[in-house]
Amino acid sequence: MRDGARDWDMYIGGEWVPADDGDRVEFFDPAKGEVAGTIPRGQEADVDRAVAAAAAAAPEWRATPAPERGRLLLRLAAELRDRADEFAALESLNTGGSLGGSRWTVREVAARRFEFFGGLADKVLGDTYSVPGRTHSFTLREPYGVTAHIVPWNGPLWVGTRSIAPALAAGNTLVVKPSAEASLSLLRLAELATECGFPSGVLNVVTGRGSEAGEHLTGHPGVASISFTGSGATGRRIIQRSAERFIPVGLELGGKSPNIVLGDADLDRALQGALWAIFANAGQICVAGSRLLVEDTIHDEFVERLAEMAAKLRLGGPDMEADMGPLISNGQREQVLAHIEAGRETSRLVIGGGVPDAAELAGGYFVEPTIFDRVPPDAAIAREEIFGPVLAVTPVSGVDEAIAVANDSEYGLAAAVWTRNLDAALTVAERLESGQVYVNHYFTIGFELSRTPYKGSGFGHSEGQAAMDQYLRTKVVSVDLSST
Ligand code: NAD
Repeated sequence: MRDGARDWDMYIGGEWVPADDGDRVEFFDPAKGEVAGTIPRGQEADVDRAVAAAAAAAPEWRATPAPERGRLLLRLAAELRDRADEFAALESLNTGGSLGGSRWTVREVAARRFEFFGGLADKVLGDTYSVPGRTHSFTLREPYGVTAHIVPWNGPLWVGTRSIAPALAAGNTLVVKPSAEASLSLLRLAELATECGFPSGVLNVVTGRGSEAGEHLTGHPGVASISFTGSGATGRRIIQRSAERFIPVGLELGGKSPNIVLGDADLDRALQGALWAIFANAGQICVAGSRLLVEDTIHDEFVERLAEMAAKLRLGGPDMEADMGPLISNGQREQVLAHIEAGRETSRLVIGGGVPDAAELAGGYFVEPTIFDRVPPDAAIAREEIFGPVLAVTPVSGVDEAIAVANDSEYGLAAAVWTRNLDAALTVAERLESGQVYVNHYFTIGFELSRTPYKGSGFGHSEGQAAMDQYLRTKVVSVDLSST
């Protein structure tokens, strides 16, 4: 049995507690397709309890001197680094991803974020303005109070810490609602925070379904701001909830990210980049490079070599020497396979397209690495987010067509361009409607810089200093000096 494969409780007010009505939801080991344990099925009473715990902790946490808050975040970061194996085991059990990849996420993403925002906690400064001889005005930066954080299943630690770390550093208290498929690492994170000295109730985790615990949390009158990462459909619902009470919301939604390879690119590097852009985490990455736009001068050779590389990828679970893991659930696999079936109608299937038949993969939610070529830009597999290991390749005549096809999308999360021509690289980067552009590599290096999603991929700053602003209000205080 894998570590973490057991029944868990929720973490509220510094304690492990079951659901008020005792109900539970199963979670699965995606690499085996077996039930691995249960989590509480949180409902209204559980959300009430978590929001009450967060509200009770808010005055103390807000009054904690910022350097002390920062020190606690740094302690949490150090503990995460020391416990990378433990957290990686929980993350990989839930997601099916490799232990090596999860270990990297614990250290270089989760711990790194607590280091970064721990260092920023005492650097929240305001502005001053003086009218000579009369008034002196200054700003106070204040936390919202109780903030809600709704997290998807594809990378709970990766995605969750993106909003948890700045919200804590800014002095808010939190109620986190992970996906029912993948709650374990965030549950343990909340407990670890208590072990590090965070006051009870500062970081609470309510488990359960989006339509139950999630709905109650986003509609709860005690919640002052919502941070949501997930699908566009749920994002719309979150905005409706926030509109009911005029509370701020940050949305990080889906993507259909274009990866542009121009004819003068370093092909060996571009091939490696294109391969991992779509097949890392079995394509279940919001910024996955799922649309490959290749200049027609190199198109045929590029696709042939990419298919050869994809054919060599080893599939397997966390405890196997694997390049690509399973999908999160059988339901997700069914959806991906339906997209593949639709793709066969419009495009040329180059490789993959089915479920692998190797005996050691039996039961797991695996799908073969799949590449479609000559995909018309208006085909469903070129427009809809699939969130699986399915690549849509479209030939383009050059920079102008590449940009036009890339921007013809409802999404604007990420994009990449491969070229040796600096002028072309910067032209493409400027003209792409995307919150992140990678040049001659894929995936952003460093979380120190802020970004905003474009178009249907959401809004609000994430990462970097500006992420703190998402969790702070600004109050201006104006003093008439003549009367004092
Ligand atoms: P989802 O929208 O189905 O669920 C996300 C979270 O919302 C889960 O915790 C779920 O329980 C909760 N939820 C569902 N309905 C809710 C409701 N009515 N009220 C409140 N909460 C509710 O998304 P998913 O399938 O878990 O994740 C995949 C999606 O997330 C993809 O679209 C992917 O692109 C996106 N994603 C985006 C980013 C990003 O940074 N932009 C990162 C990771 C994933």
